[in-house]
Amino acid sequence: MVKVDIKYTKLFINNEWVDSVSKKTFPTINPQDETVIVQVAEGDKADIDLAVAAAKKAFYRYSEWRKLDASQRGHLLYKLADLLDRDADYLGELETLDCGKPVKQAIAEVHWSANVVRYFAGKADKILGNTIPADGEVLSFTLKEPVGVCGGILPWNYPIPMFVYKVAPALAAGCTVVIKPAEQTPLTALAVTALIKEVGIPAGVVNVVPGYGPTAGAALSYHPDVDKIAFTGSTEVGKLILTAAPAVNLKRITLELGGKSPLVVFNDADIDEAAELAHKAAFSNGGQCCVAGTRTYVQSGIYDKFVAKAAEIAKRRTVGNPFTDVQQGPQVDSDMFAKVMGYIDAGKKGGARLVAGGDRQGNKGYYIQPTVFADVQDNMKIAREEIFGPVQSILKFDTFEEVVDRANDSNYGLGAGVITNDINIALAFVRHVRAGSVWVNVYEHVSPQLPFGGFKESGLGREMGEDGILQYVENKTVAVSLPKKPLQK
Ligand code: ADP
Repeated sequence: MVKVDIKYTKLFINNEWVDSVSKKTFPTINPQDETVIVQVAEGDKADIDLAVAAAKKAFYRYSEWRKLDASQRGHLLYKLADLLDRDADYLGELETLDCGKPVKQAIAEVHWSANVVRYFAGKADKILGNTIPADGEVLSFTLKEPVGVCGGILPWNYPIPMFVYKVAPALAAGCTVVIKPAEQTPLTALAVTALIKEVGIPAGVVNVVPGYGPTAGAALSYHPDVDKIAFTGSTEVGKLILTAAPAVNLKRITLELGGKSPLVVFNDADIDEAAELAHKAAFSNGGQCCVAGTRTYVQSGIYDKFVAKAAEIAKRRTVGNPFTDVQQGPQVDSDMFAKVMGYIDAGKKGGARLVAGGDRQGNKGYYIQPTVFADVQDNMKIAREEIFGPVQSILKFDTFEEVVDRANDSNYGLGAGVITNDINIALAFVRHVRAGSVWVNVYEHVSPQLPFGGFKESGLGREMGEDGILQYVENKTVAVSLPKKPLQK
């Protein structure tokens, strides 16, 4: 077993590492062998209260943070990006230990996160208002001002990217933050927080409180002094936050939730290339990806050959110790493992044709065989519900109009993909599919400049890009009366 040095396990409030008020801790588990990695301080309402108070103080109008130029906020973020790159190997290994993703991928995600931070660093002094020719004798303009104290509630599937998706735009806009990492993967959020301290971001601007959802997460969501919550996680919890949290103080809410994204392959596609792309779409990050393309619709002319190829690729997928050169490690925890195995069982019992995998791998750790079901019907559980594991469902279709209706027949609308060389088919698909991101002959192409988020029950608001930073500002409209008489004649 690879030994990774764990330096931070406490809460970070007002620039200090502290125990929780209750002194309670919770274990974080190694998904490779189901052992306890370490105990982490367990935050609850009392700790959230302290963290929010620190963030509120840091946001006060004469604070060190509020007095910084926007460009200085940008410089601090550039420094943070450099430190992420510097420590990428260490952070990646820590992530692999806690989360189980292959170490090469985990390290790449740290560099990716550094680039996200750089994008928002550059944005800090380019958040522009408008001048507006309003009616009346006034000079009018808008100011884009920081929304205030922001809570970020994180999932466990991409812990470091999700941390920076919440923190970087908030800081670029001049907000202060309290972050609640996922209970399954608290370690890297704390390690990145140590870099924030090293950069010299003023006390109270970033606070991090690990703990459980219904306790620490709920306390943050409902806190009257929190002006905004950015949440990434399940649609179920997202709905809960959206209905209950604004009732307290009308706080702003952005949600990045689940998906059941379709990838549609037309007859003219190169079967080998399309099957590889569809495989990556479904199995990337062990299928633990909100935008995973788990409904693979294949046109009837190439269906049988495609299914054979998809099964062959899945059987070749390497699964094992994530510290070695594999494509897939264990699933994150016992709950997710059981949930995914339940869906595989439902696929088998529901009459789908199993063509690859279908079982756990080994008898220790949360490893699952890459699993492919063919002849899946739209009404089956595995075609309708988010599985969040290494399971691909292949469905047959005949015509364009039919497949667009079927692709859209979902409560979700996060991503969608199409594989074809016919420009009319591609563009008509782009136009008619109901999803926040649509990819043509590529899948899951995400980039800091591109807004990301969902239609329907996949979310509210966007992260990244221009739209991403605008979620962290309020629009203040100013009208200044102009003199009605000649001046100093
Ligand atoms: P998953 O099922 O993938 O773990 P969740 O939506 O349960 O997704 O969790 C995502 C994040 O939301 C985690 O940080 C979790 O602790 C938090 N969370 C869970 N329940 C609540 C809740 N009731 N209020 C606020 N946050 C919550």
